[in-house]
Amino acid sequence: DIILSVKNLTATVEETPILKGLNLEIKAGEIHAIMGPNGSGKSTFSKILAGHPDYEVTGGEVIFQGQNLLELETQERALAGIFLAFQYPIEIPGVSNLDFLRVAYNSHRKHKGLEELDTFDFEDLVEERLDVVKMDASFLNRSVNEGFSGGEKKRNEILQMALLEPSLAILDETDSGLDIDALKIVANGVNQLAKPENATLMITHYQRLLNYVVPDFVHVMYDGKILQSGGKELALKLEDRGYDWAIEEHEAAL
Ligand code: ADP
Ligand code: MG
Ligand code: MG
Repeated sequence: DIILSVKNLTATVEETPILKGLNLEIKAGEIHAIMGPNGSGKSTFSKILAGHPDYEVTGGEVIFQGQNLLELETQERALAGIFLAFQYPIEIPGVSNLDFLRVAYNSHRKHKGLEELDTFDFEDLVEERLDVVKMDASFLNRSVNEGFSGGEKKRNEILQMALLEPSLAILDETDSGLDIDALKIVANGVNQLAKPENATLMITHYQRLLNYVVPDFVHVMYDGKILQSGGKELALKLEDRGYDWAIEEHEAAL
């Protein structure tokens, strides 16, 4: 089952080309990692998948579970099963985390034609899912992300994922700024949520997270394209030798 198929995708930001012919196929049950130097277009790609309005797709196609993703609005993409854990999660003062999660969760239920859960039933569900990220229930009463530590924000994202059960979870630099304990908790959450029927796309500059969430495929991205793909050993090679060799190999082949 193909979850995501990206063919020759090109995109611009403020008229500047950023994605320059990106190809990627992700099947159900797979964990993919995209690695690459800063400025390669990794975050741009993830935001385009999520439907961020700042980016203009200028060519190519993106098929998500048989649907033309590019025709869907941002919210429709989320409802269709794409989840993007943001690099810098937003704070929403005055809205409790519990209410925030419940609204998001219920909009997905409604979309599936299911009845919304009331506060009490939802609380039971969240409390069960809190375990995925080893979070304390007191967390639910605080304002969304306000005063959360970096690790708490990341855990909160994984909690959102645990509730929404996306078909494609995209984690952009989820490892950045995490200490080793928080990294392990986040990785453990991602591993628990990875199922045969869904897929995970991890975007990371560093190999570190991939010690804990082992990818089936690793792709090297540079200058808006995927230069090279391989198995988990490619991440180790990149860690060891940097990105330059992959760029040189690619340029030599042109
Ligand atoms: P990465 O995540 O691989 O570090 P990005 O996707 O963040 O790369 O950025 C790729 C390029 O696109 C960079 O040159 C960056 O400056 C540019 N870019 C990304 N978003 C914007 C934006 N909103 N406005 C202008 N330039 C942008
Ligand atoms: Mg960057
Ligand atoms: Mg980035």
